[in-house]
Amino acid sequence: MTTTIIRNAYVVSLDDELGDLPRADIRVDDGAITAIGTDLTFPADAAVIDAAGKVALPGLVDSHRHVWQGAIGGAAGGQSLGGYFGVVLGALVDKYEPEDVYAGVLWGALKALNAGITTVADWSHIVTTPAHADENVRALRDSGIRALFLYGPPVGQGVVKWFVESTERHPDDVRRMRAELADDGARVTMGLALRGPEFASPSTTAYDFRLARELGVPISLHSGIPGYLLRYRTIDTLEELGLLGPDVHHAHGAQFSDDDLRRIAATGGAVTPCPTIDMTMGMGTFPLVGRALEHGLVPSFGTDTIAGGGADLFSEMRVALAAERARANAAALARDEPPATVDLDQRDVLRFATTGGAAAWGMGDRIGTLRPGKRADIVLVDTSGAHLTPLNDPATTIVLNAGSSDVDTVLADGVVVKRGGRLVGPVAERARDLIEASRRRLLARADLAPALGPDWAA
Ligand SMILES: [Zn+2]
Repeated sequence: MTTTIIRNAYVVSLDDELGDLPRADIRVDDGAITAIGTDLTFPADAAVIDAAGKVALPGLVDSHRHVWQGAIGGAAGGQSLGGYFGVVLGALVDKYEPEDVYAGVLWGALKALNAGITTVADWSHIVTTPAHADENVRALRDSGIRALFLYGPPVGQGVVKWFVESTERHPDDVRRMRAELADDGARVTMGLALRGPEFASPSTTAYDFRLARELGVPISLHSGIPGYLLRYRTIDTLEELGLLGPDVHHAHGAQFSDDDLRRIAATGGAVTPCPTIDMTMGMGTFPLVGRALEHGLVPSFGTDTIAGGGADLFSEMRVALAAERARANAAALARDEPPATVDLDQRDVLRFATTGGAAAWGMGDRIGTLRPGKRADIVLVDTSGAHLTPLNDPATTIVLNAGSSDVDTVLADGVVVKRGGRLVGPVAERARDLIEASRRRLLARADLAPALGPDWAA
């Protein structure tokens, strides 16, 4: 048995019974939290992490991210959704060989871990061949992150063919992968990233959903996106086809009507706004936060794409909270009245980024809070920076101010993957070399230097 003891942390457990513990130890045995309390005993050979001056948080959950894009951060920074499609899905996606998928996913996952994201729902549409899919999964496993590999459509075979009212059925290779990722208790498990009514024909959607349910895996869709939504209204179509259910997860969703949200809630579905991308790429005026809550849906958060957004969830929490308050305030402002109260605060959005994501994927018994019995996905935030001092309420101060560089230590499934502010372990340095080599190959193949800017071309 391997034991790690985290000593003297300020623990923000987000557990209803434990609450905040201003000075506590966390004991980890074989990847599981076994005790949280003051002055815990531990064996002499335990690995000891001194966490004085640090805040322990549950690992963050990114419920919608295209992890393969590790090499192309900012590539669509100046683009709307249509421009993103042109640059990333039009010009780049078919330039990826399996080795680029490995490099991109490995670095993409390490970028997430670096930001304290210990679980990611990886919406993978870089699966041009089965070999691409294999490298995606291998990189997720090697990175140390907890992941739901959402096996998507092979958009590299043709973005129009697969993404515009497509009649191509979801690849049969998902059956092979399901046999390989059959253990639901494993760190990397499987779901299907489906196109749904906004990208595929209704009969194709019906086939794809039947496939997911035959395999017994969750479904993730891009839903409630302007323009696309007008062609086939997602919820109307899914309802007509009898496909709504608790296994259906909707990324984005800012354009959903109240009636759409009512039906998602009534059938047990989940929603994942991607606050930065929803607003900057024009997928809606406000991310789907307060409107989801009004219908009893607790949102989780996604970063979506680092080609146009950031790599961390601290920013997403801030953006979501500011946007939601702006939305809620708008009615009073329209009457030329000052808004009297606010409904959401920093702890609420911290819950959406932890317990919200865990619940959305049926992982609430294993992750999302710090509590004995759960897996040891733990983030230690260094609070010595001027921007975090004095700490006052830790959760509030962290959500208002923290970023990836304040994440001192990360344990993923009990394994230390970041320590002293640096990614550690056998893959970290290799991953950096691999991503630089992949970036150069992609640049040569894609001839995208003008679109990708001088830093990319350097
Ligand atoms: Zn997406």
